Amino acid sequence: MKVLKKKSETNIVHSLKIIVFIVSMGLLFSCETEEFSQQEEIPLSGLTKQEQIDVAKLGFRPGETEKIKVKGADGVTKDYYLYSDMKVPVSALKDLIAYADESLSKDESFKLTRTYNTAAGNRRYNVVFVGFEPGFQRQAAGDMIWLFNNVLRTTIRLDIKFVNNQQQLENTPRDIYIDIRNLGGDIFAISDVPFRSKPGERISINRKKMNKMSTRANLREVLMHEILHTFGMNHSDWRTNRSCGVNIADPSIETIGAVPIGGANASGNNLDSIMLACGELVGRGFMPDDIASMRGVYGFK
Ligand SMILES: [Zn+2]
Repeated sequence: MKVLKKKSETNIVHSLKIIVFIVSMGLLFSCETEEFSQQEEIPLSGLTKQEQIDVAKLGFRPGETEKIKVKGADGVTKDYYLYSDMKVPVSALKDLIAYADESLSKDESFKLTRTYNTAAGNRRYNVVFVGFEPGFQRQAAGDMIWLFNNVLRTTIRLDIKFVNNQQQLENTPRDIYIDIRNLGGDIFAISDVPFRSKPGERISINRKKMNKMSTRANLREVLMHEILHTFGMNHSDWRTNRSCGVNIADPSIETIGAVPIGGANASGNNLDSIMLACGELVGRGFMPDDIASMRGVYGFK
């Protein structure tokens, strides 16, 4: 989920991001205990022509997709494509877009999305919140888990755990972890998408935007949006980005159906969803289309 912003700000934000990164590099050495909360994204060179064509098959607008390097909680650094608030490993892209091969039948294409682009259903996943200290943050986390389990009612259930720091995180079994750290850009958070039957492994909430997520309802809304990305849901207005005030379909993604989602509004121009590309936080909940989308992919239970 992105904060509403003007398009012309993108370049400025990008330049600022590089500056922020350079500054934070200096800080890494001066205060090591804070290392985990420092910005860990390193901007890389732009996308090649082929990469632009490929990311468009995920519904990513190529002109707004960046390549970054990010260090995970396991200390491993990987390259990612970042679009809006979603990131995918560079190494996973070929498999993630396999479904979009035009020579495939609908059935074959659907099977590939089940293999590569969604998490496995009929099971429980551990969600670990790192450094969620104030009461309202823990309440928002609890709300999100409860609503996921009891409103979406898919074949998936989430279990909640809280840890205080990275060391505790390393010793805690987890499928998804949610941390709060400094992110570049005008975004509330960044989420991983599912890959090879596993949900996206990380959601990072932007510490710099915490002033906008300072209530239980606002933080809950962001968490509810991001957790659906980790299970493969795209933005409900992915085609037009209407909630960002753009309302122009990017021709490069116009013909791509995004990841096929059963039982849901597939227009790519739907605003009745928690999955808006941009928007002000108003504490909205899971809406009928969100519920139908998740049940379409993971089943009802
Ligand atoms: Zn989003």
